[in-house]
Amino acid sequence: MSYELKCIGLLTSGGDAPGMNAAIRAVTRAAIYNNIAVKAIHRGYRGLILGDIVPFQTQNVSNIIQQGGTILKTARCQEFMTKEGRQTAYETIRREGIDALVVIGGDGTFTGARIFAQEFNIPIIGLPGTIDNDLWGTDSTIGYDTALNTIVEAVDKIRDTATSHDRLFFIEVMGRDAGFLALNSALATGAEAAVIPEHKTSVEELENRIRSGFRKSKNSSIVIVAEGGEGAQGLANRIRKLFPSYDVRVSILGHLQRGGSPSAYDRILATRMGVAAIDALLDEQRSIMIGIVNKEIVHVPFSKAIKEDKQIDQARINVLQILSV
Ligand code: ATP
Repeated sequence: MSYELKCIGLLTSGGDAPGMNAAIRAVTRAAIYNNIAVKAIHRGYRGLILGDIVPFQTQNVSNIIQQGGTILKTARCQEFMTKEGRQTAYETIRREGIDALVVIGGDGTFTGARIFAQEFNIPIIGLPGTIDNDLWGTDSTIGYDTALNTIVEAVDKIRDTATSHDRLFFIEVMGRDAGFLALNSALATGAEAAVIPEHKTSVEELENRIRSGFRKSKNSSIVIVAEGGEGAQGLANRIRKLFPSYDVRVSILGHLQRGGSPSAYDRILATRMGVAAIDALLDEQRSIMIGIVNKEIVHVPFSKAIKEDKQIDQARINVLQILSV
């Protein structure tokens, strides 16, 4: 090994996601198993700059695998975007005797990690922790499956009231830049349409789908809308004008999509990825994200995970269209 790996720093950054705690547990225990000390950094890159760090033992991660959120807390840190901020973070790393970092977060987190690794020659491994599933090179991100299931549960409940009152519902879900949550929750709930950033949906198309939805069930219709753009409210206003007779309602699911106990899938994914992060460091890998492709662990350079756009599956868009006849 070209450097001594005696101690790692571990942080969560960006938006929280269910399963982050399972990842924290796995990274910590896999490190200790390999005689590597763990320093837990609070509130992402801010904690690195402020030196808000504590040593972690195996018992620090007991009983957290089932908890949503992140016990390390997370933050968005503007200061880390400056050279001075990163210099201060580097001084903390030297002072604490940290040889490598494991960062759990989304594309912003990996962008920062990549710059930091280049500037100060620090080995960094990333774990994809974001409910949006918008990172290239991995079939799924930690938190996505749980958020999808949370949305499906909420939409099922809204469907009950929509049917009882003959209502048309526009339900807004997270995913400003990626429609995975919207498209797949629409498939799972039998929604009439999904409005997603990757696919332009004309008002005429929407109109047709809503009409056929009402024809089909005679009394309710659901459209899932990814946040951003004009959003569920904007679309609802337009449709209200076109169909004055419809009882149009809007439901914005908001932050409840981030919370809750992680699904079995996310716990297992986070656990496998956490162990893989330590394996990768022992294998002298750096500046890579751990991904999962066809159920196998893969290594994805930060540069690719961040830059390349993850394509939405056109076949799924077609399936949704076919089934909304
Ligand atoms: P999510 O996908 O859930 O939003 P994220 O990791 O993309 O997660 P961001 O808020 O975009 O969340 O990024 C997290 C942190 O990463 C930022 O607050 C900042 O500290 C750091 N970061 C992001 N972009 C850069 C950059 N260009 N240079 C340095 N640091 C960055």
